[in-house]
Amino acid sequence: MQILVTGGLGYIGSHTVVELLNNGFEVVIVDDLSNSEKFILNNIEEITGKKPAFYPFDLKRKELLSQVFEAHNILGCVNFAAFKAVGESQEKPLEYYENNLFSLINVLQEFKARNISNFIFSSSCTVYGQADKMPIDENAPLKTPESVYAKTKQMSEEILKDFALANRKKISLLRYFNPIGAHPSGKIGELPIGVPNNLVPYVTQTAAGIREKLKIWGNDYPTPDGTPIRDYIYVVDLAKAHVAALKKLISEKSETAIDIYNLGTGKGSSVLEVVRAFETATGVKIPYEICDRRAGDITMAYANADKAEKELGWKSETTLEEALKTTWKWQKYIK
Ligand code: UDP
Repeated sequence: MQILVTGGLGYIGSHTVVELLNNGFEVVIVDDLSNSEKFILNNIEEITGKKPAFYPFDLKRKELLSQVFEAHNILGCVNFAAFKAVGESQEKPLEYYENNLFSLINVLQEFKARNISNFIFSSSCTVYGQADKMPIDENAPLKTPESVYAKTKQMSEEILKDFALANRKKISLLRYFNPIGAHPSGKIGELPIGVPNNLVPYVTQTAAGIREKLKIWGNDYPTPDGTPIRDYIYVVDLAKAHVAALKKLISEKSETAIDIYNLGTGKGSSVLEVVRAFETATGVKIPYEICDRRAGDITMAYANADKAEKELGWKSETTLEEALKTTWKWQKYIK
């Protein structure tokens, strides 16, 4: 039961590796360390008592990837390896398309050549853009995304569907809402490079004194407190959904399967609610100022995650405050 996890030392990847190991899978990680650190591998071992195989290279290097498939008896893949900075993707479209699409295609070529099925793809709720109605279910129409990053997610989904149909493969597209938090051990978590773009890492760094104050990007949105609403899902809960989705694909009788799931809590929280929840969870005050809106931000996105509950037996279990507590523990660990 060897599972290839691409980008397995990254934020969501590392948490998923832990859950896979805890569920009896053997894990083979390919990660080029472009947005991750080697110490995460040791910490995964400390948490689980198990050592995944690890190959540090870029998935665009086809010959090295082929050798990994040669060396292991791969049953499936959970694919995280991708560039993910929204702003940067606008400045470097070619790099984003090349990296995110070619690395995916190279793994799929190996799947095809070696007759392997069971592919889980890390997608995003950004494929829905500003959806017309809340909560967002899997049938909501996909909208032209605002960013190159989000376009690579939409394109990857299309590539995977075509691949599954043409080659009779089983795939699962997992559309994440806003992942937050860290492992309860405090030993793995998100490692933002430079100034964080995402809300929770910025809040955490502000609490740690690394940033002076949080900039809240607009309080004139049509929401109860004027700040935008998102669905913040705890990363360990999210990681568990990957294991459930993989088990479902493996036990799926039919040759071809295209599963699509929204992974969120089903509950929306505003920016100000996140700030207050962090303060309650940690006892640390977050200084903030209200600024102009950030370009490209939508007003509201939260999931209808009923399909995942019904078909995977999975649901979010962790409260916003509990998740934020783990983030604070991790921040103190990496400081
Ligand atoms: N946000 C903010 N200040 C920040 C980062 C984010 O006010 O420094 C707000 C942002 O406008 C959005 C919410 O927090 O309404 C979540 O932003 P994030 O970038 O984490 O996720 P996404 O926009 O991709 O949902």
